[in-house]
Amino acid sequence: MTALPASTDKKLGLVIDLDICVGCHACAVNCKEWNTGGHSAPLTDYDPYGADPDGVWFNRVHSYEAGEGANGRTVHFPKSCLHCEDAACVTVCPTGASYKREEDGIVLVNADTCIGCKLCSWACPYGAREFDVDEGVMKKCTLCVDRIYNENLPEEEREPACVTTCPAGARHYGDLGDPNSEISQLVVERLGYDLMPELGYKPTNKYLPPREAASRHAALPEDKSQPVGVLKWLDRVLSI
Ligand code: SF4
Ligand code: SF4
Repeated sequence: MTALPASTDKKLGLVIDLDICVGCHACAVNCKEWNTGGHSAPLTDYDPYGADPDGVWFNRVHSYEAGEGANGRTVHFPKSCLHCEDAACVTVCPTGASYKREEDGIVLVNADTCIGCKLCSWACPYGAREFDVDEGVMKKCTLCVDRIYNENLPEEEREPACVTTCPAGARHYGDLGDPNSEISQLVVERLGYDLMPELGYKPTNKYLPPREAASRHAALPEDKSQPVGVLKWLDRVLSI
């Protein structure tokens, strides 16, 4: 089994605004384009132009109708690895192929030592792992580790591909371990939320609830262990 770092000062991750995501899939497509030539390349496709296309995607956007009548709305939910602090996908790995970096908290997979046992995908409650059948190894979002530190790119482009391409500005990237970072401030202002906090994985990535839900949040007493509004519904969908 594989050990996690005791703690990481830096917690690089994403904040995704469910209030303004329009479900255009630009983030998913740009993720696919960058990563099919990146750290975990290729992102294999199966039957891409056939009747039942499938393949490895690190970022998937699911769209749902939530609520009814005047309270109903379409919710677009982009899903990728949340780079959890207590990542059981790492601790269950029998070979050390899955690991969490001490220097920035990013969770990665070493394709050279992955034996394709899939234990990590069973351990991930968020469905964030992607098995490459052709290569027989597990893959997942790398937070574009080969972009964010890439000195061959102009500094303003050293962000995850999904963030650089979002036309709505619904995706934010930064250090969630620094309470003074812009992204941490955004989480505080908008009552950013952990997905399924009751499981104790302590995901680094946060989701910002739709603004109406945020005001309901503000009106509630301190019990932050229970999700409300759209997030309660999202928890239910993820638990199925
Ligand atoms: Fe692991 Fe899943 Fe958390 Fe990513 S989201 S770190 S794959 S448990
Ligand atoms: Fe580790 Fe690979 Fe097995 Fe996942 S599939 S637990 S990364 S050896």
